[in-house]
Amino acid sequence: MSLPLDDTGFDHTVLSEFRGRLVDGETAHVLLDRLVDRLRDRGLLRARARQRTDSTHVLAAVRALSRLELVRETMRHALDTLAELAAEWLHPRAQSAWVARYHGRSDEFRLPAGQETRRTLAEAIGADGSELLAAVYAPDAPSWLRHIPAVQILRRVWLQNYVTRSDELRWRTDEDGIPKTARFVSSPVDADVRLGRKRATAWVGYKGHSTETCDDDTPNVITHVATTPACIADGAVTPWIHRDLDAQNLLPQIHLVDTGYLDSELLVVSRRDYAVELLGPTRRGRRWRERAAKGFGVDQFAIDWERRLATCPEGHHSVEWRPRVDARGNAGVYVRFSLADCRACPSRAACVDSSATYPRRSIAIRPRLEYEALQERRAFEESSDYAVEFTRRAGIESTISQGVRRCGLRRSRYVGLPKTHLGHVATAAALNFVRMAEWLAEIPRAPTRRSRFTVLMAPS
Ligand code: SF4
Repeated sequence: MSLPLDDTGFDHTVLSEFRGRLVDGETAHVLLDRLVDRLRDRGLLRARARQRTDSTHVLAAVRALSRLELVRETMRHALDTLAELAAEWLHPRAQSAWVARYHGRSDEFRLPAGQETRRTLAEAIGADGSELLAAVYAPDAPSWLRHIPAVQILRRVWLQNYVTRSDELRWRTDEDGIPKTARFVSSPVDADVRLGRKRATAWVGYKGHSTETCDDDTPNVITHVATTPACIADGAVTPWIHRDLDAQNLLPQIHLVDTGYLDSELLVVSRRDYAVELLGPTRRGRRWRERAAKGFGVDQFAIDWERRLATCPEGHHSVEWRPRVDARGNAGVYVRFSLADCRACPSRAACVDSSATYPRRSIAIRPRLEYEALQERRAFEESSDYAVEFTRRAGIESTISQGVRRCGLRRSRYVGLPKTHLGHVATAAALNFVRMAEWLAEIPRAPTRRSRFTVLMAPS
């Protein structure tokens, strides 16, 4: 901050204003970028080397709420906000029953037992919220009331959780359609948080993605930080990382990632647009054959792109080949085999779903460039060179652990995605300073920890 050493300092609230200015000016990245530029100028960081990326879950600074708690908290938040900003307007319009219903936070409020009673409460809250919204949007109400964030969130939460049927406001059920996680507002205080799931872990908040260099002759420098709502898939962040690193002239040649950051399309696009080799375990097929590693997976079918023909493990040729777009919007090719061949086939049990009405095999493959990139990568995954190269990815776990233990990365200190991201950028800059100090003091890097059992069982 360029203050003299004997400066008396400043009040800590100044930091909040400082953070607010960084967020408003969208300049949070400067905290990391300037440091990274300096390190590159000093030869401690170079482009076209190796980098690795991983993400971790970040809990929001708000409580995880059930849907019933959410609507009650949203109404309570709107009333509190209006009581502060428009007390004279609210007082004559508020119902006396609202005092008991919205007194105290959800963790102090005992929800009634039984589904029917809870539904009745949900619909009573719904009626209260609709009445408040009708008053806010009435022609004689001051128009600025509609722009209060707590009122806007109330409106969104009501649209997502209630539905009007025969002029009656009803609690939305699965049959009515509840918005998908990516759009569902999970908190009245932080509208950016979303529910995330990773294997057995579920959390409400964000994901923090960190990318760092991982060569032997330079320190491990964090070059990029991304923050997303918890429900965003890792693969959606890969192009974003490459675009930002390209803008800084810091693209790696080899980018080590986990399966989530990688698919056949990303393999092709990373090579084509950025000359980056994404390296990580490719996802096996989602069907039972690939999952159970039983029977004939798609990889066991030979594809002749010139003749638009597939050959099955029993040597039969396909009878149908047509382009298609799947339910997720991915382009590909649909290939089908002959009913006569499959019916008479001795390997039918290993190939065709026994529950299928017509016992014939069909496969879906990606467009040619993607298919070939994936096959080439899967072949490489079997090699020892791949195993050696991919071992480097594990070190990113230590970076995440360092961020969690040293800087509290696991829990957001702030409300909202922009400020949570600012916290991640500041964490990355702080860890880079710690690492530079250790590098300059020639403190050796700790090896990646492995359990004694893993070491014992590792092939020599
Ligand atoms: S079931 Fe059909 S596609 Fe599968 S191996 Fe037999 S003939 Fe080939």
